[in-house]
Order: sequence, then C-alpha cells, then structure tokens
Amino acid sequence: MTDTHTLYSDAYAAHADAADPLQRFRAQFHMPRFGDVEQAYFVGNSLGLQPRGARAQVEDVLDKWAMEAVEGHFRGNSQWMTYHGLVGAQLAEIVGAQPEEVVAMNSLTANLHFLMVGFYRPTAERPAILTEAGAFPSDRYALESQVRFHGFDPSTDLIEVQPGADGLFGMDAIAAAIETHGHRVALVLWPGVQYRTGEAFDLAEITRLGHAAGAIVGFDLAHAAGNLPLRLHDSNADFAVWCHYKYLNSGPGAVAGAFLHARHATTDRPRFAGWWGHDAATRFRMGPDFQPTPGAEGWQLSNPPILGLAPLRASLDLFTEAGMPALRTKSEALTGYLETLIRSQLDDVLDIATPRDVARRGAQLSLRVRGGRAQGRALFEYLSDNGVLGDWREPDVIRISPAPLYNTHADVLRFVRTVARWRDA
Ligand SMILES: *Cc1c(COP(=O)(O)O)cnc(C)c1O
Repeated sequence: MTDTHTLYSDAYAAHADAADPLQRFRAQFHMPRFGDVEQAYFVGNSLGLQPRGARAQVEDVLDKWAMEAVEGHFRGNSQWMTYHGLVGAQLAEIVGAQPEEVVAMNSLTANLHFLMVGFYRPTAERPAILTEAGAFPSDRYALESQVRFHGFDPSTDLIEVQPGADGLFGMDAIAAAIETHGHRVALVLWPGVQYRTGEAFDLAEITRLGHAAGAIVGFDLAHAAGNLPLRLHDSNADFAVWCHYKYLNSGPGAVAGAFLHARHATTDRPRFAGWWGHDAATRFRMGPDFQPTPGAEGWQLSNPPILGLAPLRASLDLFTEAGMPALRTKSEALTGYLETLIRSQLDDVLDIATPRDVARRGAQLSLRVRGGRAQGRALFEYLSDNGVLGDWREPDVIRISPAPLYNTHADVLRFVRTVARWRDA
C-alpha cells in the first residue's frame, strides 16, 4: 500500500492517470469550463456530461427530418419506426439483460407508474408496497399515489423501512422488514443505489426475499444504471426502471429505460396500452385490437421522441467500447482514492456517510460536513467558486461522484486540495 503522503501528490495522480486504460474516454466529452481551466465535475450522478458524439446524432435526426420528412419513419438504418431498437442491445448489455427484456421509452417516473399498472395489483389481504424511508421524492409520490389510486391507505399500506442510525439499511434491515410485513406486501420497490447515501443493494438477494414472501419485486435503478455492473436477468427481478441522464450521459430529460423479466414477456397482466406497444409486424394495419409485442417493447405507448433518444446512441457507444467491467474497476480505484485522501487529509472536515465496503457502493461518496449546515454551505460554495462541482443535499451533505468515463485522479486530488485550502484559510 502506497503511503498517504505519496498518494497526496500531483506525481501520484499523474502516474495513476497515465496508467489508466480508459484515459482516452475523457476527450470524448465536453468538459464544462471554469474560466481558463476545466471544471472538476463530480455531478455525473445528477447530469452526466455531454458526449462529443451526441451533437452529430441529434443533427442526423434534424437532417433526416429536414430532407425526408414523413419518409424518415421508413428509410434507412436509423429510420424512426425502429429507432428505439437501435439502443436495445447495448442497453441490455449494460444492465445485464436480454435484448427483449429492455426498452428505452418515456421518462423514469412515468415508467415506474406504467409498470406498476401491471405489477402492483393490491388485494384486501395483500395491499401494501414496501419501500425505503427517505426515497427520492418522485418515487414516494408515485408509490403513494398508486396506493391511493387502488383505494388503499398509504398510512398503513405504504410500508417505509427505516435505515439505521448511520442512515444505511444493510440487508438485515431489509430482510427483517420483509419478514415482518411480507404477508401483506404486494410489491417490494427498492433502489439499486440510494441517492442520498450512495448505498448499493444486492438486487438478487432482495428479489429472493421478496419472492419468498409472495411479493413482486421491482427496482428503481436511477443511480445504479451505468454506475454498477448489473445482472438484471439473473437477479430475477420482475421489473426495473431507470433514467439515462445521470451516469448514462444522455442529456437533460433523456428518454428513460425499463426492464421486464423474460418470464413476463407474454404476460396477460393489465397494462396501459398504446400503438407503439402493438406487435410491430401488424401495427400499421391499424386494427382495433391490441396485440402486444412480446417483452418490454410491448409496454411502449407512443412513438418515441427521437430527438430525446439520439444522444443515447452516442453515450451507449462509449459504454460499449469501454465495457462495464473495466469501468467498474476504474470507478473503484477513483472512489477508493477519494476515500483514502478524505480519511487521511480531511477527517476533521468530512464524514463519509457511504458504506466503506466497496461491494455496497458505486461511484458516489456522500460527505457529511462536520459542524452542520452553515459550515456545509460555506464549503459547498467555496468549492463551486473554485471550479469544483459536487451537489448539495440538505441539511449537510455534499455528494461527490467521480465518473470513470471522464473523471481522473487529478480531479479527485483537486477536490481534496480545495477542501483543505478552505479549512486552512
Ligand atoms: C433522478 C431520479 C428521479 C427523477 O425522475 P424523473 O422521472 O426522471 O424526473 C426519480 N427517482 C430517482 C430515484 C432518481 O434518482
């Protein structure tokens, strides 16, 4: 193990970056500027940076629309009729699914609702959704409104599992909650990575426990997709949803993703249907009866916003080229470097809320600023004023997410040095 004095040096960071087999990918992104230099950008968990290839993909769509108009639907490899399918295989690879199990459609919260139409079917005996306390607000609103929509009462039928005093869950708390409430639970809806703490979960184990209790199990992978190597098919989850603008770098409001396990490919569960979910071979006969495409594509409603899908193609090409295993290796190194430097240099300023165990976290570290909110805000503003961008979560947390496609050890060192300068000022 290299001693911390050596680690806390430009020479070490430069050496580690030069040895990085993925170093070429940084140049594939637009790095936000800070005056004459690049920003140290650690907010890929919120909005990933723009791949340089995104503009050409968007311009291709604009050109096709300009030149071919309605015929753009039917002409060439990137015709709009089948455009969503252009991303399917790559997306499946990234989340560890079969191509028929994934689809790019709608937005994240919309997909959560649409999949719950089929997979949250409460009964008087089994009315409840079991989820985390402190969920991302949109998820909580979605779950609570679904419970009400079915005529049940969120105060008893939205079961929110409390984390421990350290803000983390761990499998024990989840297992205990499923054990206690399982007989009343219709749906377990859990995050892949908790957005505030960065805690990552064992999807296969949660699925196993939920299924054993007789519940359906779905995941919100907003902070997991493109961050951790996932094996969705093998996890046996019933469904999952995620967005593409965080680690997957596809731009604000990009078209989102959904997974439906192969065993549900031809399910007769209820769904809200639309023509894009109709069997593609007969869709344009425009018949009155809905015949779904087997698999996830059968859950589409509308013809997709092609301009919102276009950047995804550029981003997925980079993920495919780099590969999730190599990205994860680099991610562990970068986040590990950040953790080591914080523990050795900034222990009096920052307390790491994210699990220490590498298997229980992704790229993000959530840093509680010692001294409370006012100190935290002052540090956060100092960082921003010095070109180091993380994001702020009330009351005292700064989230820092080194993204392995474009962040470097030098970025991490710059963050640590900037915090140290603020402390020492
Ligand atoms: C980012 C995020 C969202 C955002 O929802 P949209 O429908 O994409 O606006 C929802 N849930 C979680 C857990 C998130 O991390």
